[in-house]
Amino acid sequence: AAAAMAALRSPAGLFWWRLRAVPGGARGAASGGAAGQQCYDLLVIGGGSGGLACAKEAAQLGKKVAVVDYVSPSPRGTSWGLGGTCVNVGCIPKKLMHQAALLGGMMRDAPRYGWEMAQPALHSWRKMAEAVQNHVKSLNWGHRVQLQDRKVKYFNFKASFVNKHTVCGVLKGGKEILLSAEHIVIATGGRPRYPTHIEGAVEYGITSDDLFWLKESPGKTLVVGASYVALECAGFLTGLGLDATIMIRSIPLRAFDQQMASLVTEHMAVHGTRILKGCMPLRVEKLPDGQLQVTWVDLASDRRDMGTFDTVLWAT
Ligand SMILES: Cc1cc2nc3c(=O)[nH]c(=O)nc-3n(C[C@H](O)[C@H](O)[C@H](O)COP(=O)(O)OP(=O)(O)OC[C@H]3O[C@@H](n4cnc5c(N)ncnc54)[C@H](O)[C@@H]3O)c2cc1C
Repeated sequence: AAAAMAALRSPAGLFWWRLRAVPGGARGAASGGAAGQQCYDLLVIGGGSGGLACAKEAAQLGKKVAVVDYVSPSPRGTSWGLGGTCVNVGCIPKKLMHQAALLGGMMRDAPRYGWEMAQPALHSWRKMAEAVQNHVKSLNWGHRVQLQDRKVKYFNFKASFVNKHTVCGVLKGGKEILLSAEHIVIATGGRPRYPTHIEGAVEYGITSDDLFWLKESPGKTLVVGASYVALECAGFLTGLGLDATIMIRSIPLRAFDQQMASLVTEHMAVHGTRILKGCMPLRVEKLPDGQLQVTWVDLASDRRDMGTFDTVLWAT
């Protein structure tokens, strides 16, 4: 495999010479290949909602399929298992945290509906996070089992193309691997972006990729952004009893119905989320006590302001 990799790293013409020299070439993928090179009808790069659905359907239609999934750790070092954004750092943990927040609200309302609550209920982020993370891990495992049941081969490495029918990568133990297929589907999804032009953004900030895997409460949090991710995170943090502020440069939920967007932000403000509209962060600094001091500008007045937070979450 190492020799094949080395050859495939050389100029493009050589790739084709070598692939054609293989019995059946890349097109006869399922039936043969160079020594150490595995061949499939379909190779899917990305084991998220899109990639897994595609791979399972193709396998059900009798195709020889492989999925390659690899999670590059966030700048904070957070990483997770098979299933992609939705399962690990999106829809699933988010909905569980919303549920935790909603339960808190219900408990506060409950006495008025006749429930006798012995004492004010306290929330433990640690316990919630552990339960959410265990559930997500069980889903990671479930996805692996589903692939196995459908005879879809799963690889855990970061795939790079060497030509239009072949990808390469390095397995955990350091072994290089080469996979070829008649068809390759790219289902690599997306990741949150850091505003790297803001001083201290990468050094001190986190994104939703980290939030769902925190073991301890994020505490007083500034969420920067106006996307649904920003609004949802600020919403459930407020619901969990945390001091949450959302900083929006222009309008919330751009490209959504703006009447609905206003209803959402008004509702959030009534429920305790502080909303800073028309503001843009300029700098994040760490104070000696570990708190984060954020300097921002109010774009209408050009006035600068400051605030301290335990966590700054970029959802821009
Ligand atoms: C906080 C949050 C909440 C959300 N809530 C909802 C919701 O309620 N409802 C909804 O419909 N959607 C929601 N979404 C969006 C949803 O999660 C995504 O649209 C969906 O997960 C995208 O799926 P995908 O398969 O395209 O990509 P992903 O799920 O991102 O999967 C791509 C996979 O490919 C891997 N990969 C990337 N490059 C390579 C490579 N070179 N080699 C190997 N592997 C690679 C990635 O690490 C990842 O595992 C939410 C997203 C976020 C962030």
